[in-house]
Amino acid sequence: MTYQCFLIKYAEIGIKGKNRHVFEDALVRQIKLALKPCEGNFAVHKTYGRIFVECLSAYDFEEVTQALSHVFGIWGICPVAVSDLVEPEELMAKAADFVKEVFPGSKSTFKVHTRRMDKSYPMDSQELNAELGHAILEACPDMSVDVHAPEIMIEVELREKIYFYAETIPGPGGLPVGVGGKAMLLLSGGIDSPVAGYMIAKRGVRLDAVYFNAPPYTSERALQKVIDLAREVAVYTGPICLHNINFTEIQLYIYQKCPHDELTIIMRRYMMRIAELLARKAGCLGLITGESIGQVASQTLTALGVTGEVCTLPVFRPLIGFDKEEIITVSKKIGTFETSILPYEDCCTIFVAKHPVTKPRLDTIVRHEKYLEEKIDEMVERAIETDDMILVDSTGFRHITGEEKN
Ligand code: ATP
Ligand code: MG
Repeated sequence: MTYQCFLIKYAEIGIKGKNRHVFEDALVRQIKLALKPCEGNFAVHKTYGRIFVECLSAYDFEEVTQALSHVFGIWGICPVAVSDLVEPEELMAKAADFVKEVFPGSKSTFKVHTRRMDKSYPMDSQELNAELGHAILEACPDMSVDVHAPEIMIEVELREKIYFYAETIPGPGGLPVGVGGKAMLLLSGGIDSPVAGYMIAKRGVRLDAVYFNAPPYTSERALQKVIDLAREVAVYTGPICLHNINFTEIQLYIYQKCPHDELTIIMRRYMMRIAELLARKAGCLGLITGESIGQVASQTLTALGVTGEVCTLPVFRPLIGFDKEEIITVSKKIGTFETSILPYEDCCTIFVAKHPVTKPRLDTIVRHEKYLEEKIDEMVERAIETDDMILVDSTGFRHITGEEKN
């Protein structure tokens, strides 16, 4: 079967009242973005309170449905066969052909649901339902009608053309990216942070990301791994600006000046401070981390409190109540797991203490951070000035230079 268009069904944005058009426009934009790398030409438009993807040339069905199934805000994707508006007799034949081709040899129960927008059509919806049912039964003798709980719902819509559809490919749900503003994801090379980014983006939030890099202690491959993860998340979100921050001198300075059992916590506080400065500059409304209570020493409630204390922007931790196994399940589902488990060193793992504090005291940490007073501000400034910005989308990445950085 060649489908000439796709009807996009959306659930939650249907209930957004006066702002509905904002959500629909965002969804149209995200769909166009997702289809860009696909072979073929497409027109995406809103008609009759619905979104249609019209296929204007040959295309790869798998590729297109795959791309659409990654767009947040989509509840379902219905492949639609389109015919000219024909007289009833020909309509019956076309409907029967459609069902025969889409469900060959099927023994399922079905129901026909007709919508007649063109009120001048010679039969009304009730008559059409009955007659179409008969025509389909004749063509597909193993199928049967069940009007209460049909296994297959055959939709027929009569407008300026006739639309047939019967299948719904599930979308990811959520809200279209962009309607909820933007937030800064602290993206490490691990399993958790890409999942955290995915979850917040699913609620309509656009992502920027920051990676704290520690060359030469971390390799070029470690950065490539983070870019790859950003690319995998960008499949769902659209382009992500990844800030690659050189954190080496700050880490070494902390290592040199502060008690080693507090390294992780102090380092994390500087990551949050820098992430917040970048976030404000980029117009982000919050920070996102992959933290989950108790996962490691720096993620006890006490440690999370001490880390978050440096931020004035809200910090979103969507995995806070997730077990590792649950995070891994999502990570596999969204396609980041295989990249996350590649072995390259993360900057945190290099300077970890053997026995990190699990119950840091804020006053002690603040006192020990005073040991950094002499140079830390200029180091933070330098880290931000030398921000290596990388624009990542699902197909690749490029470094941003010069004017474009602002
Ligand atoms: P992940 O799987 O996300 O790496 P993790 O279990 O390794 O998580 P931590 O290393 O304690 O946890 O980091 C907690 C969170 O801090 C991460 O989820 C991430 O949001 C952020 N983070 C840690 N290291 C970095 C880094 N090098 N660059 C950017 N963000 C980081
Ligand atoms: Mg990590």
